[in-house]
Amino acid sequence: MNLYDRISGRCEQLYEEAVGLRRRLHRWPEEGFKEEKTSAFVLEYLKGLGIDGIRAKVAKTGIVADIKGAKAGPTVAIRADMDGLPITEKTGLTFASEHEGWMHGCGHDAHVAGLLVTAKVVNELKGELPGSVRLLFQPAEEGPGGAEPMVAEGAMEGVDTVIGGHVWGDNKPGEVALMAGPMFAAPDEFKVTVRGVGGHAAAPHTAVDTVPVLANILNALQTIVSRRIEPGVPCVVTVGTVQSGYRYNVIADTSVITGTVRTFDPSVQATVKKAMQEICCGIARSMGASAEIEYIDRYPSLVNDAAATATMRELAVRMLGEANVVEAKPTMGGEDFAYFLRKAPGTFMFIGSANMDGSYWNDAHHPRFNIDERALLTMAKLYSAAPFWFGGVRG
Ligand code: MN
Repeated sequence: MNLYDRISGRCEQLYEEAVGLRRRLHRWPEEGFKEEKTSAFVLEYLKGLGIDGIRAKVAKTGIVADIKGAKAGPTVAIRADMDGLPITEKTGLTFASEHEGWMHGCGHDAHVAGLLVTAKVVNELKGELPGSVRLLFQPAEEGPGGAEPMVAEGAMEGVDTVIGGHVWGDNKPGEVALMAGPMFAAPDEFKVTVRGVGGHAAAPHTAVDTVPVLANILNALQTIVSRRIEPGVPCVVTVGTVQSGYRYNVIADTSVITGTVRTFDPSVQATVKKAMQEICCGIARSMGASAEIEYIDRYPSLVNDAAATATMRELAVRMLGEANVVEAKPTMGGEDFAYFLRKAPGTFMFIGSANMDGSYWNDAHHPRFNIDERALLTMAKLYSAAPFWFGGVRG
């Protein structure tokens, strides 16, 4: 039988195992860089397969493992992130979180399970594999970011192509969504501190009240996207927190806001930074106060390579059928897979995981978030086949 049909069939045989792995991982979500149990579980599983090229404790809890093929060819890296979120799970699932206050609220349990099954399939077929597969089990995607330190510790050395994916509630189970170009935004963080002079609420003329200063700044920040950025160019400026004051009859000497800026294009990012500086400092000064901005660049935007995406799309059609391969819609969310893509061309995919009956929440980071587990099969098929396909095997 044809290699790709065999891969498909083997993944289907292993579907129940994938579901079991995912449910087991789902019970114990862990904080970024503290994925001790998850990491130990991954290590145990890979050792059980007889894979010998394993590096544990990469970027604290990360694991890098190589499966070498019998033939010469490229190295294809496949990444799964491992961390959970500080959310109290409210799904009511039989395998819901047992780690108080923590939840696999972004589906990283599925990513790990999908990559473990992939390891099994590829390892079984390594006699036919041109080149090798590098498995990247990454900590702390939700922050502060495990991809960058993994790269720094050599996880991408010798890698020719890197792929990864995320379960995605906007796409149906069985589907994969792909796209070339920017797919995730650069999720920057900012903090603005406005300083004035405190005093008695009954004597505002003796003080510099930061509350009206802040009110003006909050309104003016809304004009960055609407007035400074070209219409149609994606950009978000969101203020997430506002803190001000002590008591109803005390003038607030300090006000602080925090928020996030989301952009795809570094020149748009630069425009936002400049506008933010002008607005905050300008308004504060015009009202006798001062403002200080702390702007923190987080992950870069995630940009999929056009050629690698095209190659992956052909494979997806081969594995899933034309009707199940759709165009991805970019998101203003962030993804530190971006760092791997800076080291080698590759592509990131949305693996359709929507619950079609509305029984759970389809958007991640919600206490009732859950996936349709058929996404595990889609993931296993695409991941297991990719190293052969990028290695030039057709059929
Ligand atoms: Mn995620």
